Amino acid sequence: MSEQFAAVEIIAAKRDRNELTDPQIDWVIDAYTRGAVADEQMSALLMAILLNGMNMREISRWTDAMIKSGQRMDWSMLSRPTVDKHSTGGVGDKITLPLAPLVAACGGAVPQLSGRGLGHTGGTLDKLESIPGWRASLSNAEMLDVIEKCGAVICAAGPGLAPADKKLYALRDVTSTVEAIPLIASSIMSKKIAEGTSALVLDVKTGNGAFMSDPAKARELAQVMVELGVRAGVTTRALVTAMDVPLGLTAGNALEVRESVEVLAGGGPADVVELTILLAREMLDAAKINPLHDPADALKNGAAMDSWRQMISAQGGNPEAPLPVAKHQHQITATESGEIVEMNALAVGVSAWRLGAGRERLGEPVQAGAGIEIHAKPGEKITAGQPLFTLHTDEPIRFDRAIEALNDCVRISSTGEQVARLPLVLEKITG
Ligand code: URA
Repeated sequence: MSEQFAAVEIIAAKRDRNELTDPQIDWVIDAYTRGAVADEQMSALLMAILLNGMNMREISRWTDAMIKSGQRMDWSMLSRPTVDKHSTGGVGDKITLPLAPLVAACGGAVPQLSGRGLGHTGGTLDKLESIPGWRASLSNAEMLDVIEKCGAVICAAGPGLAPADKKLYALRDVTSTVEAIPLIASSIMSKKIAEGTSALVLDVKTGNGAFMSDPAKARELAQVMVELGVRAGVTTRALVTAMDVPLGLTAGNALEVRESVEVLAGGGPADVVELTILLAREMLDAAKINPLHDPADALKNGAAMDSWRQMISAQGGNPEAPLPVAKHQHQITATESGEIVEMNALAVGVSAWRLGAGRERLGEPVQAGAGIEIHAKPGEKITAGQPLFTLHTDEPIRFDRAIEALNDCVRISSTGEQVARLPLVLEKITG
């Protein structure tokens, strides 16, 4: 079959800082997905995009082409408005777990198609898979059934959702082309738009534990993603939020489920509760839902917990079953007394990952019980000898490298120094 374009001409155009035309973008995404553009050609184009950028028209067209590479889901048969949240990921970021049933309890329909974790930030599906019996893979009919019954479904995105992104993301991973805002924004938004939600709230993390550590870059990514959502007819908002310190007091799969259940029971760490409520209010507002409860009340009165139990049971999980516990624990204590003024989120994430909570390559198994419990956070006073962290793993050989990651992670001061922390929410961007 003769092709409409030659890949080399498109690579040369971007290499020479020219804009790609709509037909060129449509063709290159389609041809790459069906194997008519080789990996080495797409690698060169991705590097040219990383170096020379794309304007908003090009990013929007690139996103549309990725959406068109697969199916777009349709939830129009649901009686409630659909609304979803996407986080760019951070250490201890378990917010989806309490948030989806909370928004469902307040009147929204939440179709959360999630992924597994790669690197130091955990994946929502890995966390939920630590619940005995819970199933991530659902057919479209099962998905619809769960969301109709429970108001929320969290499951694996099927192979038909933006298949171009799956191929491109794997290639970017091995060609050092992940860190380009046009490519990140189009990758995330193609999946979220294809998921078929009518409103979307983005939680763009910034700080040392985030993918976008520089707040200015995080803001730029948020702005581009909001614009892509709006162009696609999805009401989209973004919050740029702090990831300089881990969220909550746990990082690791079953440990984070336990903490999420505490939040759903009306307790849990203040930062997790605050962000969950903020995002829930934003989602309900974006979807123009007149809420059945205020989210803060729904955490206290058991409504969100009821939705959680329903949602977990509907996917084969037993919400009452004890969660897996790692076979070995190791405690790290404070070596001096004073106030904790810093705790590096990235170091905690890397340590949890080395304990077995995360994976290095897609497809590798993770340990359900592995991870870190944090006993004190910045702003709190601590005495030498008091516990700072408990490390959990099934394989004690992992302790040494996990402990090494935590060297210099915490700074304790006895001079009355101010705690230097990012505010929980740095900025809100509305489309
Ligand atoms: N997450 C995605 O889905 N895509 C990216 O490019 C980066 C993070």
